[in-house]
Amino acid sequence: DTIGDNFDRTVAAHPDRDALVDRTAGRRWTYRELAAEVNALALGLVAQGIGKGDRVGIWSPNRAEWTFLQYATAKIGAILVNINPAYRSHELEYVLNQAGVKLVVASDKFKTSDYPAMVDEVREKCADLNHVVILGSASWQALMDAGWQGDPSSLTELQAALSADDPINIQYTSGTTGFPKGATLSHHNILNNGYFVGELCNYTEQDKVCIPVPFYHCFGMVMGNLACTTHGSCMVIPAPAFDPNATLEAVAAEQCTSLYGVPTMFIAELNHPDFASFDLSSLRTGIMAGSPCPVEVMKQVIDRMRMAEVSICYGMTETSPVSTQTRADDSIERRVSTVGRVGPHLEVKVVDPETGLTVPRGEPGELCTRGYSVMLGYWEQADKTAEAIDAARWMHTGDLAVMDADSYLNITGRIKDMVIRGGENLYPREIEEFLYTHPDILDAQVIGVPDEKYGEELMAWVRMREGAEPLTPEKVREFCEGKLARYKIPRYVHVVEEFPMTVTGKVRKVEMREKSITLLG
Ligand code: ATP
Ligand code: MG
Repeated sequence: DTIGDNFDRTVAAHPDRDALVDRTAGRRWTYRELAAEVNALALGLVAQGIGKGDRVGIWSPNRAEWTFLQYATAKIGAILVNINPAYRSHELEYVLNQAGVKLVVASDKFKTSDYPAMVDEVREKCADLNHVVILGSASWQALMDAGWQGDPSSLTELQAALSADDPINIQYTSGTTGFPKGATLSHHNILNNGYFVGELCNYTEQDKVCIPVPFYHCFGMVMGNLACTTHGSCMVIPAPAFDPNATLEAVAAEQCTSLYGVPTMFIAELNHPDFASFDLSSLRTGIMAGSPCPVEVMKQVIDRMRMAEVSICYGMTETSPVSTQTRADDSIERRVSTVGRVGPHLEVKVVDPETGLTVPRGEPGELCTRGYSVMLGYWEQADKTAEAIDAARWMHTGDLAVMDADSYLNITGRIKDMVIRGGENLYPREIEEFLYTHPDILDAQVIGVPDEKYGEELMAWVRMREGAEPLTPEKVREFCEGKLARYKIPRYVHVVEEFPMTVTGKVRKVEMREKSITLLG
């Protein structure tokens, strides 16, 4: 199946069901209405000379038009290039040139981000860029008007000429560990992944999924949008960018059955001062993914948000993204403390990164995944592709994992984040989980900093709960004494208001390490 054909089938099956709600615009579309917008936009793109294989960039916070463009480009076989809305002109120029973008759809001004001005600034420096369309402006209107005058039946022929293995999307990784890389994905890659995520969440046309995670990232556009459109479910956009209040409001107002987020988002929602005033009783399920989630937070999501079937997904942009997922019938213990088992039609193995040999169950090693989900490659970076995907098509994730006897996986950290102190391998995740149990600590991150004696030493960055006194390093160490092995007790503690984050809500440990080195002089 191609994404366009699959979408058309859902529209035919559920034409009058809610498909999309954009709470900021105050607008909603049924599947029939959504299809009309998508087809008009597809025809508008064709009228601009966009066709199969052409790169179309989207640079915008979440809004309905993002979704229109996702399906419009898929229908005509253009390759959608997701551009991080937090980028500024320098990074924009890099992506537009790296992906050879021919037409870019950019947001109008949003908060302090003047997207039109930044596109103008780089336009001349992007040789392939022929068309700039600004959302909510005359250029967008013109594109849509041309499309509304086109003949929707002409799309049938275009769609028939596509193959499910064609590249359809370039998604950049979050940039947690360095410069983002563009993963080239096919219809087959992401359509199947969205479908199976929806299957494991038991979505039907009765479901409404609240999507506060960015569309520019696979979490929003695949696990969100594609999981919905493959099942006739409704996509709810609470706000252009994450806002805990707008998210809780959207769940209550739309009676959402499912809610997505990375751990930091759920933490923000659970700590909302008026949390109890939102009626979240419609929630049945949801997805937590993107970074390790403290067990305590998972428990609260189940108990206080009443997301009884909430599932943890693990994956990466390069694998469409989901590789493992907990299921509603897994035991509670496993659903809060593991990332589940491998997804349908996929394979996983845990190997010794040095030898490449599979390690025994229960021992940590690098997680490798294989199957339909593995990307075609990094866009025009054959050397990087060869480093990540081996000759047998195994994707080497760079993540450390442990597989138990029943094939449940635990992600213990990233290889790059592992701290080697005096020859001892330390996993920050374990120490973070422990610090998190301190009643005054809202969130904790542990990193390694260079040390003359031990090679590396542990440093904890800590965010305090509202009203709590900042903890001194001595107090934190006292709390750990007798409960953690001495070598696991952070030598340095740094109390902060916020951690450096990616737009996808992940903590940028690279940046924390750089800052820590400066702090420690
Ligand atoms: P970059 O590759 O640019 O450094 P990134 O790896 O954060 O950034 P993504 O593709 O968005 O970019 O994220 C994938 C990574 O997120 C995984 O490799 C893993 O480290 C982490 N991750 C995803 N889900 C989970 C999870 N449930 N538990 C722990 N870690 C997770
Ligand atoms: Mg990565």
